[in-house]
Amino acid sequence: MYYPEPIAKLIDAFGKLPGIGSKTAARLAFHVLRMDEEDVTNFAKALVNVKRNLQYCTVCCNITDVVPCRICQDKHRDASVICVVQEPKDVIAMERTKEYQGLYHVLHGAISPIEGIGPDEIRMAELLKRLGDEKVQELILATNPNIEGEATAMYLSRLIKPFGIKVTRIAHGLPVGGDLEYADEVTLSKALEGRRELL
Ligand SMILES: [Zn+2]
Repeated sequence: MYYPEPIAKLIDAFGKLPGIGSKTAARLAFHVLRMDEEDVTNFAKALVNVKRNLQYCTVCCNITDVVPCRICQDKHRDASVICVVQEPKDVIAMERTKEYQGLYHVLHGAISPIEGIGPDEIRMAELLKRLGDEKVQELILATNPNIEGEATAMYLSRLIKPFGIKVTRIAHGLPVGGDLEYADEVTLSKALEGRRELL
């Protein structure tokens, strides 16, 4: 049996999202059918706006609606420290701790030989350029505590040592294999506080 084309297209669209199988995609599509028109319109607008109005910060590569982003523009932040994270959502997690006052750099991924993701596939060149341009004294590597995150931290640490910049790694105590974003504020604050220098 075939679905009418509009609903088939919607199921297909939902099915392209990560973690959504065909059954869930169909359930979501039929849910949209039952939503009132105003909610559907707002949902569609939110989808389009996220592409139209968000861009990457030319400094830290985080997603932003203004360039440079609000954090990079903030004169009260400590520009001598850069915290390197994998994803924009990790910046949100770090900001929630209210402990960290430095700047960020968002890699948009991690090195993963298995998935064929090398240093050139993530925003590493942008970071190296910053280290040349800005007066950075410490680089905090806050990539995830899993194989890819550790590999990325090791790679970066070796690459950056010759710059004469202190390179630290956030402490263990974060759930191993977990993502930074799932760590609660207290755990993340402690991991930040207990960071150690990579030698
Ligand atoms: Zn920025």
